[in-house]
Amino acid sequence: MNKGLALLGVLLVAAAAYMMLNPQSGGTDMGGAETAMTASSIEPTTGFIDDERIKNAESEPGNWLAFGRTYEEQRHSPLTQINKDTVGQLGLAWFKDMNTNRALEATPIVVDGTMYFTSTWSKVYAVDAITGETIWMYDPKVPGEWARRACCDVVNRGVAVYNGRVYVGTLDGRLVALDAATGGVVWDVDTLIDRTRFYTITGAPRVANGKVFIGNGGAEFGVRGYVTAYDAETGDQAWRFFTVPGDPSLPFEHAEMELAAKTWKGGSWWEFGGGGMVWNSIVYDPDFDSLYIGVGNGSPWTRVIRSPGGGDNLFLSSIVALDANTGEMKWYYQTTPGDNWDFTAVQDIALADMEVDGEMRKVLLQAPKNGFFYVLDRADGKLLRAHKFATVTWASHVDMETGRPVLNPELDYQDNAKWILPGPLGAHNWQAMSVDVDAGVVDIPAQDNPLIYGMSDEWQKTGIYKRNPGSWNTGVEFGRITQLFLDNIAEQPTPKGYLKAFDPLTGKDKWVVEIPHYWNGGVLSSAGGLVFQGDALGMLTAYDKDTGEARWQYNTFTSMLAPPITFELDGVQYLSILTGTGGADLFSGEPLPPVAEHASLTYNNYGRLLVFKIGGGAELPVPTVRDRSIPAQANLVASNEQIAAGELHYNNYCSVCHGLAVRSGGSIPDLRRMSEGTHSAFNQIVQDGLLAANGMAAFDDVVSDEDTSLIHHYVKARAEQDRLYAAGEVELPQLTWQ
Ligand code: CA
Repeated sequence: MNKGLALLGVLLVAAAAYMMLNPQSGGTDMGGAETAMTASSIEPTTGFIDDERIKNAESEPGNWLAFGRTYEEQRHSPLTQINKDTVGQLGLAWFKDMNTNRALEATPIVVDGTMYFTSTWSKVYAVDAITGETIWMYDPKVPGEWARRACCDVVNRGVAVYNGRVYVGTLDGRLVALDAATGGVVWDVDTLIDRTRFYTITGAPRVANGKVFIGNGGAEFGVRGYVTAYDAETGDQAWRFFTVPGDPSLPFEHAEMELAAKTWKGGSWWEFGGGGMVWNSIVYDPDFDSLYIGVGNGSPWTRVIRSPGGGDNLFLSSIVALDANTGEMKWYYQTTPGDNWDFTAVQDIALADMEVDGEMRKVLLQAPKNGFFYVLDRADGKLLRAHKFATVTWASHVDMETGRPVLNPELDYQDNAKWILPGPLGAHNWQAMSVDVDAGVVDIPAQDNPLIYGMSDEWQKTGIYKRNPGSWNTGVEFGRITQLFLDNIAEQPTPKGYLKAFDPLTGKDKWVVEIPHYWNGGVLSSAGGLVFQGDALGMLTAYDKDTGEARWQYNTFTSMLAPPITFELDGVQYLSILTGTGGADLFSGEPLPPVAEHASLTYNNYGRLLVFKIGGGAELPVPTVRDRSIPAQANLVASNEQIAAGELHYNNYCSVCHGLAVRSGGSIPDLRRMSEGTHSAFNQIVQDGLLAANGMAAFDDVVSDEDTSLIHHYVKARAEQDRLYAAGEVELPQLTWQ
């Protein structure tokens, strides 16, 4: 039965939303209301990155000038001071508390001694890379209630630095140019086509050839994807490329939409939005003056609702090559035609020159959610390889003649719910991989993480699915997901996490490290012969790049998602990482064996910037173990029917942040431990937005007073079940009332 609980604890996605902030859970993130830090007296040593310098970033191994270090985004550093022999003496040089317990996901940029990175709520920091002292901080003042529009919390993956400017995309859809020396706003533009829809930006902008490029997220809620180029100096729009067709009664915005529209059949996808968000990967290629964009999943997830007549639904789940100057399409490759599973192709794209079948080629590399590793020729998009890099059950293989995946017909979930690998968290998500061209491997934070996919109850009963503004619109059943889970537990594949040194040409693993939790951090490799990764258990590890053997480990006491970076200043090499988990793990909740508990549950989710060097002697405070006892619940007066009704609402509106079965993943408050004060303010919080500034917006547009009361009954009932179970007073928690 523990297996059942574990399973329950480990997956799943549900509806949108935040529920309350619990003062007992140690929440310190004050969201948009966080106190601004004052500028220090340090003179900024901002170097000036012009076009020439960023194109030649490879010749400056001491700096980290672009998101993936150089335009190739390989995240493989030539630095060697920290190597297999010296790494044993690696120690903490300094750390900086970021005053947040929400996820930190950014890749810092380091230019001549200044480090630029983002924290939660799209806040930008410029710090002295030797001391950690803040040079300036910029807070874009994202309204707290905007957090409800984010699938995966108030995260941000970083900035771009170029020609004396720092560029950031904000959660509420703005692109802002800052003065790199002072943090002052140079320009601030609205990138959204419709501010009533739930668009967000969490990705890092990219910059090249005088233009800044940015996309956005939001497909789970129902939006339409596009990427926009802006003049880096003025903020004027240069071009915009839509990834899916819009309302067919209106003219096509550009020629590519006419091609795409032929692959969407029936239905009214444009009312849902269609999806195809470019929320993470946008890579500039100086060799071809191309921009490669990774395009996201369909909205809704299920094609039978989105495009009931079938079709490939271009350009969902595709890698698209655009002319960086004009935005015109050069070629595309669709990884998952007619996406039915939330299989985004937005994962990091890396560029390399590689010998393939005896010929040197300029290739593009990606490990998207769907579990196949793609090697494409950048000249024309030709598919060169598509090997599985994790367990894949939705398709048997990719047909190399047609370039299309061959589906597993037994896993069609239209009539009956099915466990499918990968699930919506993907075989690989946004956590960065690294590419070691000399070794012929990519180092991938991979996972086997299934979902039981089933059509929504509403669709099964009526054949109709109505868009619900203000909520997730996936078409997949979430209200009864706990029951679906329990009914099918015997067949559930065990979730697993891995770090894999994978040969993309042969599809073979050079080595594999299995990690006891599946949701782990990004990767950095180096010419020092090491592969660095922070994991869910709080361990920052340097692995031997030849064998996968751990050469050095450091306990940060906090789970990590962000990738490490490395840089060198005055002859000293540094290693740096941001700590703190969350993001999409919010809907995964508290795991039970066989998946290990992660560090941010055991202790707290300490948002910090850590910087290491050989001989570093600073120490992190050793945290106390978090009090996770569950208080006895007052006024348990609801009927089973009321609790069951509350469960449906909770799963649809609350679980994505507060966790399935009311088991929080650790960074968002666990509602089983609400204080008496929070209980008494429950209705005001949900209906009136009492805690909107922290991200817990009002939900009065989607749940009534009565629904709120039912949700409250369900939360209390779940808390009491787990309290009695922990006390040994009952043998089995029931977990569902459906
Ligand atoms: Ca998605």
